Amino acid sequence: MENASISNYKKLANQLAKVVNENKILMSRYKDCFRAYFIEHVKNESLKEMQDCLQLFHMIELHQDSNIKLECGTAHCIECYYFFSQDSYFNPSQFYCTCMKKITARYRFAIISNYERIQSLKKKCIVCNSIKDEMNFPALRSHKTCAVCYSCIEATYIYSKGVKNNCRCCFSTYDSDSEFAIRTLFEQKLTVNIIENFYLEHCDECKNIKDSRQFSIICQDKHNVCKECVDKRKVNRDENCFCGLELTILIN
Ligand SMILES: [Zn+2]
Ligand SMILES: [Zn+2]
Ligand SMILES: [Zn+2]
Ligand SMILES: [Zn+2]
Ligand SMILES: [Zn+2]
Ligand SMILES: [Zn+2]
Repeated sequence: MENASISNYKKLANQLAKVVNENKILMSRYKDCFRAYFIEHVKNESLKEMQDCLQLFHMIELHQDSNIKLECGTAHCIECYYFFSQDSYFNPSQFYCTCMKKITARYRFAIISNYERIQSLKKKCIVCNSIKDEMNFPALRSHKTCAVCYSCIEATYIYSKGVKNNCRCCFSTYDSDSEFAIRTLFEQKLTVNIIENFYLEHCDECKNIKDSRQFSIICQDKHNVCKECVDKRKVNRDENCFCGLELTILIN
């Protein structure tokens, strides 16, 4: 094909793929056909400008979302990139990422070694039995033997002030590390208002209701005060908490 028609073909293919992706159109009848054409295209033309088609390929192949930031600086599905980094698809002199960066031998090596690392970190969820990447298990840091995936955690997670959520495996409450990791994921789907409301608390010192994410614990009695109350000490060079105890934070 001539350059102009290749470029038009790419645009058309991507637009069709985008419609299929966005509307979740069932592809079962055309799956093998698309797959064969796409692979052939990539062999000759690389992944350059083919992000929507690659996304469709990704869905057809039922990849888990193990996005990883690659050398190009963009997070891509490591399974897609691993597939196209195999020798038979790879022409080192003209192989490009969807974001136009040349996939050099070093870049390719990074894809392959990251893939192997990610595969070796996969875990099986004890609740739903599916095998997922380690990053889908946000409570593992403190619950090392409780492999419960995020979807299963999310299904019973209660986002409400004062509620302590339990691990679905050992039934103990999450410590602050795991709780923070889970909550951060949970908040991705919430509105700013709901999140802000969740964090509103009284400052122990001035009693105003504020965003507790900006509070600091300042003494051994764990008095939790707002940023303005901390700043006031910086200005006055006051080294004590309002309760008289010495500060446990630096105010310089
Ligand atoms: Zn993929
Ligand atoms: Zn890229
Ligand atoms: Zn699960
Ligand atoms: Zn546990
Ligand atoms: Zn205050
Ligand atoms: Zn105090």
